[in-house]
Amino acid sequence: GRQQAINEFKLRRKDGKYVYVETEASVIHREEKPMVIQGIARDITERKNAQEMLQQSEQKLRNIFESVADGVFTMDMNGVYTEVNQAMLDMHRLTSKNDLIGVNAFDCVAPSNMEEARAGMEQTTREGAIVTKQFISRRLGDGSEFPVEISAKLLTDAWGNATGFVGIARDVSQRKQAEEEKRQLEQKAQLASRLASVGELAAGIAHEINNPLTSVIGYAQLLSGEENIPDDMRKDLKAIIEGANRVAGIVKRLLTFARQTKPQQTLVSIADLVTSTVELRAYHLRNGNIKVTTQFDPELPVITADPGQLQQVFLNLIVNAETEMKQAHGKGKLLITTEKVGKTIRISFKDDGPGIAKENLDRIFHPFFTTKEVGEGTGLGLSICYGIVSEHGGRIWAESQPGKGATFIVELPVVARASQPKPAKPKEEKVQKVAKAKILAVDDEPMILQLLGRLLAEEGYRLDTVDNAADAMKMIDKERYNLILLDIKMPDMSGIELYERLQKIAPSLARRVMFITGDVMGPETEAFLSQARAPYVTKPFDASKLKKEVRRLLSRG
Ligand code: ADP
Repeated sequence: GRQQAINEFKLRRKDGKYVYVETEASVIHREEKPMVIQGIARDITERKNAQEMLQQSEQKLRNIFESVADGVFTMDMNGVYTEVNQAMLDMHRLTSKNDLIGVNAFDCVAPSNMEEARAGMEQTTREGAIVTKQFISRRLGDGSEFPVEISAKLLTDAWGNATGFVGIARDVSQRKQAEEEKRQLEQKAQLASRLASVGELAAGIAHEINNPLTSVIGYAQLLSGEENIPDDMRKDLKAIIEGANRVAGIVKRLLTFARQTKPQQTLVSIADLVTSTVELRAYHLRNGNIKVTTQFDPELPVITADPGQLQQVFLNLIVNAETEMKQAHGKGKLLITTEKVGKTIRISFKDDGPGIAKENLDRIFHPFFTTKEVGEGTGLGLSICYGIVSEHGGRIWAESQPGKGATFIVELPVVARASQPKPAKPKEEKVQKVAKAKILAVDDEPMILQLLGRLLAEEGYRLDTVDNAADAMKMIDKERYNLILLDIKMPDMSGIELYERLQKIAPSLARRVMFITGDVMGPETEAFLSQARAPYVTKPFDASKLKKEVRRLLSRG
């Protein structure tokens, strides 16, 4: 018999070069005894080198494959992974390739996305070109979901038969998040500018209305002060005054709504505020078959906020939910929860009404957006909420699955923002009548000047009136006045400019100015008044209050 052995050696030739040699040797036996070893040696250097190069290039390709930042995969026609790279494992929070190879890719697709994923695969099979789609994928490692972008292409064999797919998978959560942040920022800016224009409009309207309204109230008060007028006329006058006061209230609310007032800074218990707001609405809620449940976090800290404004927000959200639920099913459940999330307090209002269409989720906060009938909704409610919450440094948004109700979430910071300076509140001082005082009134509205004349003449003062700042300067030059009543908004030179001139040339006179303002709520005016610490009355003013204020200032000396 023969025993054969094949061996490979690396030999060093005499010239110093290495060669690979394959030897085939067998032992030849004679009479059961090994006698001779017989063999052949073959130089296989070339074959060996070719093999080594192939291995090297394979390794190189594999290195590239593994170090690609995006997930790379191949799969069979059913979607079962046949090869994946390291990035695919990382994306799925897996460590071993065995956990992913052999898995069907559809097992990683979020159920809500399944149809689209199937359609994507069919399209890829049909088109033969690269097809790119986005899905929500589930990480096999921890079950969390993330948006993924997949670009895939059909693989075919030499005969053109489809054998599977090759593709790239990219985790786009960061890109999505950045896009979302950008969208939110843009939206916020847009909304802010819309609110600002509504604010301007409201301030403009308020200014226009307040002058004539001051006359209406003032003259009606003057008349009703007369002694010998018949009783029925007195009653009519009362109706005029009440009506005009209501208009004044509406104008004031319009200004508040238009975010013209800075929030107050008071310590507020959110739970108490929610409770009192629900109570405020209890009657309507009961009538509408709405059951309100509250879940308050007992550890909730008090925050610094404007309770009146926040109540307006809560009330708006409650009334909206109530209206929608009542209209949809004639009854409903409203769950109000408070909780602390990080450095914020979160208040959510969850209803079981009709919910909000996805495309409307952001638009509902736009001023004048409403789905209600003409005359039933103004579309201002939520934009006011938005304005107030933003002024508090917080956020408000809605979440909804149509048909499954809506949730409105208000998030407020626990730490208050730096408080705004407040206009100095005049202290109550001893009031005594100062007769023979000389007063100058400056206002571009002749009706207001007339009214002031009537009111102050009753008090026995001497009043000069001018309708612009330039004439006022001339009068001031000629006369010594005990008091100057100064309208803030005038064409040409404003009351503020006139005041600033006075401060330079006659500071003692500047201290004797009382402002009359139609829009004290305006942020600039407010800032000016608080900084100048000057006394002021707002239009429309009440006759007796004006008289009292004038008396107080004159008696100050
Ligand atoms: P308005 O109530 O005058 O329409 P809002 O700004 O308060 O103005 O609301 C705007 C729109 O938002 C409403 O017309 C309605 O379509 C939608 N909306 C508000 N709250 C809810 C809610 N709880 N459920 C469903 N839709 C709502």
